[in-house]
Amino acid sequence: MRVLNYINGSFCQAESGEEIPNKSPSTGLEYGSLPRSDHRDVDRAVEAAKAAQDGWRKLTHSARAKHLQTLANGIEARLQDFAQTESIDNGKPVHLARSLDIPRSISNFRFFAGAAEHFAGESHCDTKQVHVTKRDPLGVVACISPWNLPLYLLTWKIAPALAAGNTVVAKPSEITPATAFLLSQVMDDIGFPKGVLNILHGFGAEVGSPLVNHPDVKAVTFTGGTQTGKQIAVETAASLKKLSLELGGKNPFIVCADADLDKASDMAVKAAFSNQGQICLCGSRIILETSISESFKRLFVAKVKAITVGDPANDRSQLGALVSESQLQKVANYVDKAKQSGGDILTGGEPIHLPAPLENGWYYAPTVIAGLPHDHCVNQDEIFGPVVTLTEAAGEAELIRLANDTVYGLSASIWTNDIGKSMRMSDRIECGMIWVNNWMVRDLRTPFGGQKMSGIGREGGWEAMRFMTQAKNISISYEEADHD
Ligand code: NDP
Repeated sequence: MRVLNYINGSFCQAESGEEIPNKSPSTGLEYGSLPRSDHRDVDRAVEAAKAAQDGWRKLTHSARAKHLQTLANGIEARLQDFAQTESIDNGKPVHLARSLDIPRSISNFRFFAGAAEHFAGESHCDTKQVHVTKRDPLGVVACISPWNLPLYLLTWKIAPALAAGNTVVAKPSEITPATAFLLSQVMDDIGFPKGVLNILHGFGAEVGSPLVNHPDVKAVTFTGGTQTGKQIAVETAASLKKLSLELGGKNPFIVCADADLDKASDMAVKAAFSNQGQICLCGSRIILETSISESFKRLFVAKVKAITVGDPANDRSQLGALVSESQLQKVANYVDKAKQSGGDILTGGEPIHLPAPLENGWYYAPTVIAGLPHDHCVNQDEIFGPVVTLTEAAGEAELIRLANDTVYGLSASIWTNDIGKSMRMSDRIECGMIWVNNWMVRDLRTPFGGQKMSGIGREGGWEAMRFMTQAKNISISYEEADHD
């Protein structure tokens, strides 16, 4: 697949004329390329988005909603194609892309089409005075997304930006560009208005950085690593751009003594290893109340040992390949550090070698580690792979202390049948999202985002629509009629 940029309604190569090879995680082999764009392509794309702004913002809300629905329909008509492409590009099982990534991308457009129709300003009335607060679009918005949920996270940003009347320059991760390219094909097929959504491919330093620094970009919505997020915050500070940052996580999965251990261990497997552990919400630190620690461990490890890692194209594979060779190496390095520190590898702990033609693919066994101190880097750093740790805590206060013993604050999962305990713990755990007796239940109306080093701002529902607009207050005075 030869991926191209999409600027002002046209497919084009990068100005540099250079291309970046694209490898498939399942085989480790090159299967396509993408343009190596730079600041010149950014200038063209931002110019196109700026020129399209007036026409797009002047559309009625219903007309904008209709365009988003048409985009959703276009993806839906090619669902299987999108799912296979996402799986080849990212290494995730095709059934996951088919049941989660692509349907969610479609829902993102449908949901924010609805938001475009229903979002409204406010008015406050007083004697002889009415204050009307409009929500105006910002202008050109930069949407930058990572490789783990490629189309899902890109559309989660694009859809509210467009719904609110902005035009967009989007940059998917250079590691997983393929479904963003399919999205531009859909736009082309349906005749989506030119310049309203432009998609650029290339390296973060060469495209992402000039994009966020461009003076005509009025807001940046970014999902990715904490280091990159901090860099973007520094770079955009001088221009006071609006900024939304969804960053890393090291989320606690807390199992209290009174929890249903069978259900908790089932969900812990999903929370730790879905998408090969490459979801920002993954429960990568399992914290167990001491009295049930051994029973949970037995149940959990047996379930992890039963996971099938295999060809992402095969519907029987529960886990596929890690996204890149460097990600595989990063995971292996952390597991080595755990081994060197005397960590107990309860299962996994090594790469998996599949037979030809997958022998060079990037597979790693789901790994469970116990016995590390909580300040060990394996318990503190975001590994973003199929590695989970088990730690014991003596009671409620210690569970909370360990849950908060991290620089991150994205999400937490708490397992207990004591409603009082669940509320007390939810009050004190420092993070943006908490699931009680569940994990990763999403409702697109609810706020999504983290505290501490997990980011700034919230996505989802009205939070996203407010971020993507700016308030303008108009106060109108009038004389009272003299009817006497
Ligand atoms: P990165 O931060 O490396 O990259 C994210 C995106 O930013 C990519 O498109 C990247 O391009 C681009 N980029 C890199 N440098 C710059 C720059 N200087 N200016 C602008 N853009 C830049 O993250 P990963 O792709 O490695 O994704 C994994 C991370 O994403 C994990 O930390 C994970 O927790 C986080 N994440 C957070 C989520 C949340 O909602 N909180 C959800 C999902 C993931 P390129 O790929 O070319 O480098």
